[in-house]
Amino acid sequence: MATHYSSCPLCEASCGIVVETEGDQVKSVRGDDADPFSAGYICPKGTALGDLHHDPDRLRQPMRRDGETWTPMGWDDAFDYVAAQLTAVRKLHGADAIAVYQGNPAAHNLGLLTFGQLLLRSLGTRNAYSATSNDQLPHMLAALQVFGNQILMPVPDLDRCDLLICLGANPLASNGSIMTAPDMRARLAQIQARGGKVIVLDPRRTETADRADQHLFIRPGTDAVLLLAIAHELFAEGLVKLGRLAQHTRGEADLRRASAPWSPEHAAEVTGISADEIRGLARTFATTKRAALYGRIGVCTQEFGGLAAWLVYAINALTGHLDEPGGLMFTTPALDPVPVAKLLGYDGGFARWHSRVSRRPEFGGELPMSVFAEEIATPGRGQIRALITCAGNPVLSSPGGPALETALEGLEFMVSIDPYLNETTRHAHVILPPASALERSHYDAALNAFAVRNVAKYSPPVFERGPDARQDWEICAALFARLRLPKLGRGLAERLLIKFGPEGILDVALRAGPWGLRLGRKGLSLAKLEAAPHGLDLGPLTSRLPGRLGHRDRLVDLAPAIYLADLPRLARKWAQASRPTTGLVMIGRRHLRSNNSWMHNTERLVKGPVRCTLLIHPEDAAVRGLVDGGTATVATGRGKISLPVEVSDEVMRGVVSVPHGWGHGRRGTRLRVAEAHAGESVNDILDPAFTDELSGTSALTGQSVEVS
Ligand code: SF4
Repeated sequence: MATHYSSCPLCEASCGIVVETEGDQVKSVRGDDADPFSAGYICPKGTALGDLHHDPDRLRQPMRRDGETWTPMGWDDAFDYVAAQLTAVRKLHGADAIAVYQGNPAAHNLGLLTFGQLLLRSLGTRNAYSATSNDQLPHMLAALQVFGNQILMPVPDLDRCDLLICLGANPLASNGSIMTAPDMRARLAQIQARGGKVIVLDPRRTETADRADQHLFIRPGTDAVLLLAIAHELFAEGLVKLGRLAQHTRGEADLRRASAPWSPEHAAEVTGISADEIRGLARTFATTKRAALYGRIGVCTQEFGGLAAWLVYAINALTGHLDEPGGLMFTTPALDPVPVAKLLGYDGGFARWHSRVSRRPEFGGELPMSVFAEEIATPGRGQIRALITCAGNPVLSSPGGPALETALEGLEFMVSIDPYLNETTRHAHVILPPASALERSHYDAALNAFAVRNVAKYSPPVFERGPDARQDWEICAALFARLRLPKLGRGLAERLLIKFGPEGILDVALRAGPWGLRLGRKGLSLAKLEAAPHGLDLGPLTSRLPGRLGHRDRLVDLAPAIYLADLPRLARKWAQASRPTTGLVMIGRRHLRSNNSWMHNTERLVKGPVRCTLLIHPEDAAVRGLVDGGTATVATGRGKISLPVEVSDEVMRGVVSVPHGWGHGRRGTRLRVAEAHAGESVNDILDPAFTDELSGTSALTGQSVEVS
């Protein structure tokens, strides 16, 4: 038996784990009590790491498709073949003809954050896509507009706040998102134990709402109206106090003017939250010394996600809770992603160009997923002809899955860097499967920047990869060398790249980072982290403004022009505040044992009651003749799906909830466990054209559905 101290790379929480192995077998995975951040916590997904490693469906060598037949091939042959195909497309149609798509797991993977970016960004294509535009894009846009850098997203100082307001967030299921915080249950309980409060606003009484001191149902897609009313109340009642940041902000008067028309009474009609409750929220938040307003996925993925994400930051600033202990704070990560992203060309920017067909804006060098299928399917100059996907399954995770599948079938060439033959990669011509998560090292380069404490931890691989396996970064290095380096000396350059590896980049970045070497100080380095296998606690978050701001004038912009210009759209929508009395709108939901589409091939995580169900309020069920355990058809203009019904008052009237990431019943995949628990893909019926027009983000929340 051997004992390894490591980190779970499956989600943002980065829990410390102890992996016990015997030979090449994982015997157990448990929480690491000595990890200073997670202190022994682990969720069910973490315990399944061994299942993923041993999963017989996980691909272990490159595969090439001929019709519906897959044939294994050698690594060098695969690299040469892929490079030749991509080069041919590029020569014939130009750089934009090759698209790239990256899924969420890329953000948890040091190799893909370094060498993956090197490959994908060096292709010089405008057709870059990722899960960002189905997820956190509005927060990043708000960070760019308000603080001057898209990575500067502040997080709740959870361990010191006395009031946490969660809007469209369910951290008990996610363990924090853009708020790296293992064991949310304990952290929320600690707020309450010290006399503080947790308030949740959500169209569903979520797991977090269940443990909160107060839960208010809010109608989907109306968060921006609620937040404007809170800002209105803060100004009207003289509750605005910028505090230390007063001299480091601009736009207060513009924000006052912008919020003036949005009274709590008007917001009450729109949101379903009473005017008194809105006033109470504003007053309680403003008068609690240590308080944080936290908004997450429900805030982002809706028709007015851009406005809502901006207002979350603005309200924290107006009440003196920005950059103060117990409020919304910035981290001091050991590997500072701000300069690194700049180096990789991921330095922010918005609407510098627009998509070819629907004219949607670029953000951070990427186009939104809402235009992905049409950019493949629409002929003309700049049409996508080839695609590289990396750690993603957009057929299940992006609205308009069937249209995307049809589009993928028309590609001249597609290669997927992915361990599974799944609903997306089955359309690839070649799959390049990386070694398992336990065969690679881990340092959470991106997500430590959103941790509620400053922490740093490096974990070596639990298993050395076999001679016939390749790390994902090795795959990217091999393709980069073949696609972007001159033939002469290419082999040597590739060997040098691989010798330096992600660890070489990590070491340099740590030494150059805020905790690194300074004159007369021995700071952090990779060697120091290697000597601390449980990780290092670098202390609580500290105030970082104005130094951290990216705007040239070093000011927080409370009222960026793009948001002021978008307010008339919101006003038009709610000109006559209407409460829909008929019809239903849909929201998603997350489960602790699920992570988008890719944790469904392990029995441990899918066993038990069916989770891909339609949640519906008893009164809405009754008028439609639906009963608990029966079957409902959910239809939109894009199609329909049938799901088991769960009747429950945990969703508000007028709202139904269906989780995403299911729909594993498609032919031609190799996911035997997932197939047996297939469920339906809600993205088969979600309309990709329903977006936040400002940011281009998919509006996954608040689409109208017919249920029968
Ligand atoms: S919360 Fe679960 S999935 Fe996320 S890092 Fe911790 S153990 Fe892994």
